[in-house]
Amino acid sequence: MNQGQWRIGEVTVTRVVEIEATGGMTFILPQAKRDILKEIPWLYPHFADENGRMRGSIHALIIETPDRRIVVDTCIGNDKERGNPPWNQLQTTFLEDLTAAGYPRDSIDNVLCTHLHVDHVGWNTMLVDGKWQPTFPKARYLMGRAEFEHWRGFEEAATQQVMSDSVLPVFDAGLVDLVETDHKICDQVSLIPTVGHSPGHVSVLIQSQGEEALITGDFIHHPCQMAHPEWSASVDSDPEQARRTRNEVFARYADTPTLIIGTHFHTPTAGHLKRDGDVYRLDV
Ligand SMILES: [Zn+2]
Repeated sequence: MNQGQWRIGEVTVTRVVEIEATGGMTFILPQAKRDILKEIPWLYPHFADENGRMRGSIHALIIETPDRRIVVDTCIGNDKERGNPPWNQLQTTFLEDLTAAGYPRDSIDNVLCTHLHVDHVGWNTMLVDGKWQPTFPKARYLMGRAEFEHWRGFEEAATQQVMSDSVLPVFDAGLVDLVETDHKICDQVSLIPTVGHSPGHVSVLIQSQGEEALITGDFIHHPCQMAHPEWSASVDSDPEQARRTRNEVFARYADTPTLIIGTHFHTPTAGHLKRDGDVYRLDV
């Protein structure tokens, strides 16, 4: 399977897919109606089909520097009881695919969750003998301090379920480092705050040998938000702040050589942000 791989100086980023799908994203971006999307020609064929249905992906991105392997976001995970039927009790080959890509789980040094939503923390743990065990036992798991504190205290049943099966088991195992939103992981990899989607949301900036890439996380869910930066997601904690964040990040990276790697962008997943009149587009 073509999973996708990019080189940024001495660093590689490899994409390992859990689910790719067409349709099913309208609940996240209710303003992205099919007839509006059909008028955005550059979305085709990669990011929408001929009927204006959005294409998306749930994948992990593995950053490999000369001395470190970092998994960015851990998808939905297997065996998890979830309210959203397509995500309930998954049985995918994600871990086998990760190994086949060259990244067996005990070779991972860091796990970084851009935020603590259900589709970003799932493979933090795996079910072993009826218990949720850390999937990456040799890794330090990096989570935003503000993010962790917000969701730990968020008294909503679905959130508490995600925390209890995918976040707290690694925390209780002593594997979590709570970090600030501008944390520097290593010489080549640092976090930048991109809040709004969630209170402590971060994106990941990779810099090596004069080259640069940005892993978005969920400050943007779909490339159509480049054409409509005002479209916040239904799941954004603070839609106004999310809008400001998109406008700021887009203005900063448009027409630069920085490669934009989307956390939920369908294949080919990465491209360059270009100004397009008053808004933007993704050049792939
Ligand atoms: Zn997400």
